[in-house]
Order: sequence, then structure tokens, then C-alpha cells
Amino acid sequence: MNKEEALRKIAEEIASCRKCDLWKTRNKPVPGEGNANATVMLVGLGPGRQEDAQGRPFVGAAGKFLDELLAIAGIKRSEVFITNVMKCYLPNNVATEEQIKACTPYLERQISVIAPKVIVALGNVAVEFLFSKFGLKNDKISKIHGKVFKVQTLWGTLYLVAMYHPATALYNPALRQVLIDDWRKFGVWVKERLT
Ligand code: URA
Ligand code: SF4
Repeated sequence: MNKEEALRKIAEEIASCRKCDLWKTRNKPVPGEGNANATVMLVGLGPGRQEDAQGRPFVGAAGKFLDELLAIAGIKRSEVFITNVMKCYLPNNVATEEQIKACTPYLERQISVIAPKVIVALGNVAVEFLFSKFGLKNDKISKIHGKVFKVQTLWGTLYLVAMYHPATALYNPALRQVLIDDWRKFGVWVKERLT
């Protein structure tokens, strides 16, 4: 099975998943999308209304800003794989511990299939899950945002980057500038280290 097929199979399982109660209130599952051979993977929290309606990640207001940030970094959306910790619509933008536990095996499998060189964690929930998964001490995002952490995995060296969630910029203009600066720097790092 190649990477595309493996990702498609995971998406099919998500489409019929009932491992937590969120399947009841979702419209379309949002397994994630992008390049199966991506070097860079982006992980957000979970689908909002727009994502739930379209079945695609980051297509609402936060997604628009994420597109701007990717452009600032000089990274094409089509080059990366974009997904979330949670695959079904989160009515209040919060996931319980239990729901996270039920859903994250899908994310873990997507990561194993893609075997990226870099994972960018967007916002606290993704940072917490990924830092803990890869054995890193989880510090406050205000302290670690924009920094690159190196870990060893079964498929080689992985760089983990913590970023503020793009949605935070929508209600906090100061963070908007922080995000722009972090992504600009990240773009430079990617060009120097990975190409
Ligand atoms: N916020 C997220 O965390 N993920 C999305 O896909 C959209 C908004
Ligand atoms: Fe399954 Fe995840 Fe959807 Fe819950 S959120 S039903 S665990 S796919």
C-alpha cells in the first residue's frame, strides 16, 4: 500500500468512526488533506463550522490567515499536509481528554504514514499532544512559540515547531504580528535546512 492509499484508508475509517460522541453532531468528517509525501505537516485543533460543512481543514477565517502565513513563509499549501488533532466538528472549539484520547490514534497513524521531517503544531492542544508524544517537555506557548525542537523518531530526525493558533490573531492583533514574524522566520529556516 502506498502513502496515498494508506491515508485514504485512514480517512475512510474516520468517516465511519463512532469512537466518541462527536460523530453525532458533525456533518462531514475532516480527516485532513494535502501531499502524502509532505516534508512539513501542520496540525491544528479541530474542524469549525466551515470545515464541517466542506470536509476540509482550515477553510474558514483561521484558514484564510493560515494561507497568508504560509505565503509569508514561502510554503505552498499543496506541498504540505494539513490536519487536526480532532477529526469531527468541535461545537465549542473544545475537546475533552476522552475525545482526544479516542481520536488521536488517527493522527498518529497519519504521522507514521507521511513520516514528515517537520511538524508544526498550531495552538495549545496540538502542542500539548505532540510534545508529549515525542517526549518533549511542554512549556507555555508564550515561551516556545516559533522555536524548533529536534527529536528522534522511528523514521529519523523530526523537527517540532510550536506556533500560536492562527485563530488567536483574529481577536488579538498583537499575536497577529507575532505569528507573522514566527512564520517568516520559519520560512527562512525551512529554506536553509530542508532544501
Ligand atoms: N481551526 C482548527 O484548529 N482547525 C481547522 O481545521 C480549522 C480551524
Ligand atoms: Fe471518531 Fe475522532 Fe470523530 Fe470522535 S472525533 S467520532 S474519535 S473521528
